[in-house]
Amino acid sequence: MNREFLLQLQASLPQGTRLVAVSKFHPAADVLEAYHCGQRIFGENHVQEIVAKHEQLPDDIEWHFIGHLQTNKVARIVPFVKMIHSVDSLRLLREINKHAARIGRTIPCLLELHVAHEVTKYGLSIDDCRQLLDDGEWRALKNVKICGLMCMATQTDDKEEIHKEFRLAHNAFNEFKERFFRDDDAFCERSWGMSNDYPIALEESSTLIRVGTKIFGPRM
Ligand SMILES: *Cc1c(COP(=O)(O)O)cnc(C)c1O
Repeated sequence: MNREFLLQLQASLPQGTRLVAVSKFHPAADVLEAYHCGQRIFGENHVQEIVAKHEQLPDDIEWHFIGHLQTNKVARIVPFVKMIHSVDSLRLLREINKHAARIGRTIPCLLELHVAHEVTKYGLSIDDCRQLLDDGEWRALKNVKICGLMCMATQTDDKEEIHKEFRLAHNAFNEFKERFFRDDDAFCERSWGMSNDYPIALEESSTLIRVGTKIFGPRM
């Protein structure tokens, strides 16, 4: 765990931006070390791992689920998860809503956009996302709260390309805010930026950066 980097990053975040420390594949002891540096928001992308860490670690940690989520695993994280960043279908949103309703929770969710060039990444195209919102069924899902958008940029050294992709996501955010969430203060989150591109994300209005490797080192 790179203590100096974490403390520096925490101290340098602009107002209104929060750090999600991505601890996937790193042991609970490393999470605890970051916790003792004041870090409270942690991101995981596997259901089994987030459940195990939640059970072992302090209760005031905010667990954010950031990975691809299968509908048959939703029930396991709904009791404790603070935010799900990676909602990429209406079907998944319905499933989260169903399980959250059973236990009387409302789960903050982000819609994941696909703006990168890589074909393997998950997420909705901006058109599909617009269609999901236009369709309106989400308004009836009272146990999920759509709080913003998430995306990942292409892995490239081309900074202009990364700027371009985050800007696409930000433009989509502004459009959706205006069209669907104008009177809804909860729709305010823009989750973009990872170890290699978070400085660019901060320039492109990110409110949640998700940084793993730079804090915890390479994953085994
Ligand atoms: C792993 C992961 C991150 C963190 O990536 P790093 O390059 O290690 O900072 C961020 N977001 C998602 C969705 C991830 O799966």
